[in-house]
Order: sequence, then structure tokens, then C-alpha cells
Amino acid sequence: MREHLDTMPVLEAYDADCECPLCRIKAKCEEQYVENFLGGSVMEPSHRVEVNEHGFCSRHFAMMYPAGNRLGLALITDTYMRETMKKIDIIASQAVANARSKAGENVFKRMGDKRLMDSGAEIMKVVDDCVFCKRLNANMDRYVYTVIYLYEHESGFREKFAKSKGMCLPHFAQTLNVAASEMSAKNLAGFTDTLCRLMRENLERVEKDLEWFTLKFDYRNKDKPWGSSQDAVERAINKLSGQTVES
Ligand SMILES: [Zn+2]
Ligand SMILES: [Zn+2]
Repeated sequence: MREHLDTMPVLEAYDADCECPLCRIKAKCEEQYVENFLGGSVMEPSHRVEVNEHGFCSRHFAMMYPAGNRLGLALITDTYMRETMKKIDIIASQAVANARSKAGENVFKRMGDKRLMDSGAEIMKVVDDCVFCKRLNANMDRYVYTVIYLYEHESGFREKFAKSKGMCLPHFAQTLNVAASEMSAKNLAGFTDTLCRLMRENLERVEKDLEWFTLKFDYRNKDKPWGSSQDAVERAINKLSGQTVES
């Protein structure tokens, strides 16, 4: 067993009976990171070093922007930007050197030359690197493992899991993989069977809601009740892609 499993957030998320308990945990982690990084610890050296090294991806910049600490955001972005400019300088110099070494070669000869394409890939690695994503990956991996641990050791949780609304597709994929490598041989088949059944049933449920949402625009259905379809577009997007829009 891994050490220090934090079971509380998983139990709370399953009690909330949402479309994806893991997305709910992920959203809370992200909220906490934003608060930590833009709160009192904005100038804390350990945070600054980490931010300067990894920065933020576009999703997490977008989360910090409206959080209400413009000066804090400006400070951490400024030092990160300076570090990034040094990295980009090195990559750009290499790009120039590579391009010079190819001077005179026509486009057909250069086509598919991996070395010439490398600079673009290197720059995008810098752009996509993210201190929050790095933390989230480690934390979510641990929470997925916690779901598996609770399923194996707590019969109450096992029942709750079997009645849940499944997960989003990305967390479904992650859970299948972690179960395949970490779950005991005794429970693997039963767990996989239950999880796949949940996913099939709940994708069908959300799709039916979504279909009814579209049919409500037909004038013949105008006076019929919405049922559970009013937020079907949001729930369908989040079911397919993980928490993407507010629902
Ligand atoms: Zn999810
Ligand atoms: Zn990120």
C-alpha cells in the first residue's frame, strides 16, 4: 500500500453523487493551488523556483487571471518570463544555426528533416510545461489509487461506487490503467466489469438527456417538461472531455 492515502476527498466526492468524482477532486486541487500561489506565499522562494522552472499552461494561467491578485500574478509571471526568455534564446540560436547549415538545400531535400523541426517542438515543450499540471498529475494518480484501495478494503465504498454515475472518459481511462497495474488479482475482473457497466449506463443516460435537449427545440415539444435535460450540453461535454465547462 502507498503511504498516507487521503481518503476523505474521495469519500466526499462520492457522497456528492456527481458525474465524475475525480473531476470534482481535481477542481478542488486546482482551486487550492491558485489560492496558495496567489495568496500569502506568492513570494515564497520554493514556489518562485518551481514557477520559474515550469511556469503555467494556458488552462492554469486562465484560472489564475480572474483570481483577484493582479500584482501577485504580475510578479510571478515576470520572473517566469525572464527565465523563459533565456530558454527561448538558446532554442532560437540553435534554430538559426540549423537553418544556416541547410543553406542552399531546396525544400524537397529539407522536407522531414527532424533537426529543423526540433526547435518548434522544444518551444512548445516550454509553453505547455506547468507547475500545476505537474502537481495535479501526481495528486490525481494518488486519488485514483485511493478509489481502488477503498474499493478493495471498504465494502461500504464498494456499494457507493457501484451506484455512482461513473466518471468522465479521461478519468475512466486513467482508472482502468491504474487498476490494471495496481489492483489485486482477486478484485480486478469485478472492478473492471462494474466500472465499464457504470460508464455504459451513464454515457447512455447523459446522451438521452442531450438528445431530449435537442428535441425540445422542436415546436411540438415546446410545452413538454425539460426533465433533467437543461444542463445536458454541459454534462455531456464534461463527461466526454473531463471538467471543461461549468455545469
Ligand atoms: Zn473526470
Ligand atoms: Zn497546467
